[in-house]
Amino acid sequence: MNSDLIEVLVPIPLMEKFSYLPPKNSKVSLKQGARVLVPFGRRTLVGVIWSFSKKDSSDHRKYKHIKEVLDARPLLDSNSIDLAEWASRYYHYPLGEIISYFFPPSIRKGKEANFKESKYIELTSKGSFLKDEDLARTPGQKKLVSLLKEKREITIKSAKAFGISAAVINGLEQKGYISRFSRELSPYKKLENNKLLSSKKLNMEQAQAVEAIKESQGKNQTFLLDGITGSGKTEVYLQAIQEVVNKGKQALILIPEIGLAPQAEERFKEYFGDRVMSFHSAKNDREKVDAWLGASRGLVDIIIGTRSSVFLPMKNLGMIVVDEEHDLSFKQMDKFRYSARDMALYRAKIEKVPVVLASATPSLETLKNAQENKYKVLKLSKRATGANLPTFQAVDLRGKELNEGLTNELLEATQLELSQGNQVLIFLNRRGYAPSMICKVCGWISNCERCDALMTVHKNPLKLHCHHCEAQKAYPNLCPSCDSNDFLSYGFGTERIEEFLNNHFPKVTTLRIDSDSTRKKESLNEYFHEVRQGKPMILLGTQLLAKGHHFPDVTLVGIVDADSGLFSADFRGSERVAQLMTQVSGRAGRDKKPGRVILQSYCPDHPQIEEIITGSYDRFAKRLLEERKASKIPPFSFQAKIFAESPRSLISRDFILNLLNKTKIDEKIKANVRIVGPLPSIMEKKSGVYRWELSIFSKNRSNLHKFLDVMQSRLYDPKLSKQVRWSIDVDPLSSI
Ligand SMILES: [Zn+2]
Ligand SMILES: [Zn+2]
Repeated sequence: MNSDLIEVLVPIPLMEKFSYLPPKNSKVSLKQGARVLVPFGRRTLVGVIWSFSKKDSSDHRKYKHIKEVLDARPLLDSNSIDLAEWASRYYHYPLGEIISYFFPPSIRKGKEANFKESKYIELTSKGSFLKDEDLARTPGQKKLVSLLKEKREITIKSAKAFGISAAVINGLEQKGYISRFSRELSPYKKLENNKLLSSKKLNMEQAQAVEAIKESQGKNQTFLLDGITGSGKTEVYLQAIQEVVNKGKQALILIPEIGLAPQAEERFKEYFGDRVMSFHSAKNDREKVDAWLGASRGLVDIIIGTRSSVFLPMKNLGMIVVDEEHDLSFKQMDKFRYSARDMALYRAKIEKVPVVLASATPSLETLKNAQENKYKVLKLSKRATGANLPTFQAVDLRGKELNEGLTNELLEATQLELSQGNQVLIFLNRRGYAPSMICKVCGWISNCERCDALMTVHKNPLKLHCHHCEAQKAYPNLCPSCDSNDFLSYGFGTERIEEFLNNHFPKVTTLRIDSDSTRKKESLNEYFHEVRQGKPMILLGTQLLAKGHHFPDVTLVGIVDADSGLFSADFRGSERVAQLMTQVSGRAGRDKKPGRVILQSYCPDHPQIEEIITGSYDRFAKRLLEERKASKIPPFSFQAKIFAESPRSLISRDFILNLLNKTKIDEKIKANVRIVGPLPSIMEKKSGVYRWELSIFSKNRSNLHKFLDVMQSRLYDPKLSKQVRWSIDVDPLSSI
């Protein structure tokens, strides 16, 4: 009897692993990283074998047996296991739940980790001695045997195509002449031809960047590929990846938005053909499993994916690229609040591979690391096409007559560009028709009952919609408070501007691109296809338009509301605005025609607007870094937050107060952290719960983690957290 214990990770929100005895009557070898079925309370769960230990003679607990081993070969390698353990320690999140991020849903639920299988038949050794005359009286069986003698094996499907019935197959199988087996059909073929299908000529800076990345093969080195918009960053990492693929290794490219996936996949396929695959939430389960198997068995060379792709097991990882590294989408904002960029940096370290962080507007964290020479900076200061950066013009909104939010200056400039056959991009980061609705008689306003927020008016279809909790209501015909029907839709959203532009420029197509108009699976891609046809048109949209797209015919970018976010309560607000403005402006004049940007603002002399107008994100970021340094906030200190939410405001607050007051913390740890709060979140009430938060800052990362470790052990005390949902956010990025 084997008394060894097996530690199994089960997907439950507790920090510990659970121990089991090996399965009864099974000789399957148990390997770290393989899935097992285990009894857990009354349920049976799919777990992952994590480690092995000896049972102590003083340990008299009754352990249960593993029910079944699902994988003969492990699904996770030691690097994945290392990554998961690091993430659990770093983000203070249960390992059992983190591990589920490493599998596509069906594998997580215990289905077989195989490609689609086909069923085959072949002759048994007994069957191979059959002579023709043995089966003279059963012509069907005779036909099948001679087919199998000729072809060795055939699929049951093709046997049927040869006119062989199921009865014939069953008959021969019962006599022991043939047997059935299954085989996986991999959708990937390993290609031998490593030649690049096409490549563009590089300028000097690009060529130097490619060389630097190529030289770092097999080493862990972080690069900041810091290139202005349109400088050809993609071309640089495409050519650097060629070297990776030539060495028989794989590259992982993380992109921020699922909407960018088709464009990126297309671009990569032009270079590498079928060695490229994408992985994101719009794939169906079969596609996800295939992609996952292709990556983990080393059958695909290049994987392009969104945030969660950072967990994909890869057999021969050679390089990671994080494109638009500053983008907020890399950070998961609930449950397991990880940053895919930071996970990629750690993964590159343990796998000893280079990682390229690419951006025209790098995050302040990354810029600081670059300044301290932790990252190697590869600067691209010219546009790849030789075009200049766009010119900027601010239009002062004070005292101006507006046409549904648009100035005459912007409309005239739009008219001029359209008449010259160009395209115009109008940017407004607010979807819907109007952000609020007001009764002109009694002042009733469209509050959301579940949030500290107003419900947005949508016209198509007509409704009120809260963008924070997704609550929807019928558009009221009469005021709920005074029964009048005299309403005002207050403010502007993309639907409203679309309506105006359609009337003002009736002969020109206005494409509205926001998350409402692109709900259907392929619609975003279809819109971009239409844009790339190059006909004069207006693209109107939200930040969906700002991210990494190449629109060669856009010559004018109009920013409807440059002030939004200028006076944010979040210290990261101005960094975000500058990134977004620079990115959206960067869509103008990327190709042969020069571009310009018009910013509408009520405070054109605000220093931030002035800096954006000079077109220098670098200078802007430098000043912000100095400010942050002076006030000792991230990236010049490390931050974590503890959130509490409950149906009552005071319960959330008291939960955090209790946690602080009743937890014993070592004085040395205490002395090295700065605690701010508890404070209500910027939007305290959201989705019907009240949210409070505690911010913890420390100059020293390990000290911050020590503090969180102590808090964490208290947080899992069920008595403390009965009515409250809590979470820990390490390196928080937003306070919304
Ligand atoms: Zn009213
Ligand atoms: Zn709401």
